[in-house]
Amino acid sequence: MSEILGIHHITAIAGDPQSNLDFYAGVLGLRLVKLTVNFDDPGTYHLYYGDGTGNPGTILTFFPWPSAPRGRHGTGQVTETAFAIPGDAIPYWTARLAERHVPVEGPFDRLGEKVLSFSDPDGMKVELVAAKTAPDDRAWQAGPVPLEFAIRGFHSATLCETDHKGTAALLTTLGFKLVAQDGNRFRYAVDSGQPAALVDVLRAPEQRPGRVLVGTVHHIAWRTADDRQQGEWLKELTRLEYGVSPVMDRKYFHSIYFREPGNILFEIATDPPGFAVDEAPEKLGSHLVLPAWLEPERGRLESVLPRLQL
Ligand code: ZN
Repeated sequence: MSEILGIHHITAIAGDPQSNLDFYAGVLGLRLVKLTVNFDDPGTYHLYYGDGTGNPGTILTFFPWPSAPRGRHGTGQVTETAFAIPGDAIPYWTARLAERHVPVEGPFDRLGEKVLSFSDPDGMKVELVAAKTAPDDRAWQAGPVPLEFAIRGFHSATLCETDHKGTAALLTTLGFKLVAQDGNRFRYAVDSGQPAALVDVLRAPEQRPGRVLVGTVHHIAWRTADDRQQGEWLKELTRLEYGVSPVMDRKYFHSIYFREPGNILFEIATDPPGFAVDEAPEKLGSHLVLPAWLEPERGRLESVLPRLQL
């Protein structure tokens, strides 16, 4: 069977796109690797942040919906999105976040690693984990945060579930193994040798179901090496009756979607073709990119989309 390599990307819903950009590019120092529109709703943006080239395992994306209400955190959701930072970067980040008036919890210990926890401008929970392994080649080498402290892609994500068993069984099917447990937190890993290979399942039967709107995660995508391996997953997950979507061309990767037993939307996305398919690597995120079928509508879209200060 083909192999899931780890987290590919996480997609969430934001409110105001400028506040989102100022926080993730300005405060956290991620690179805006693609400024485009939501292909299913082209009057709204789709912002992609990542390392210098948008490597899979570093990509956090947002649909900004400025007039939508806030969602609610709860079960059936990815409730924490965790980035890896170098092991000695906690004091730097504690100071940086304090200077920018971001209230922070921690550092606290979780499964042997130090964690800083805070919320983005829309209330989405973000964590920085001082990771034992935080590869330099997953940082933006030329970002506003000095390279020795810069974010190195995802560490993990937390899936909040009423009951973890069905989710655990699916993760096992996907090739994850239980590697640690602390109370109601179960840590799974794929043995791919790649970064962003961890996911935590948090059993929280006392919590209400979450509501996916502003400030919450919409879905999490797992990495597959190519179209052939994705095809194998499509066949296998269909056989297991997960109700998988057909393959969708997302331009920067190809995607299939399905709901896991706890109701979180999962995606399996291909590594290729990547973000340099329609922009030179040094130009990534520097202007609005549209798919060919929307190019004729550029003028109208530019007039309805809120202006952004990059
Ligand atoms: Zn996605």
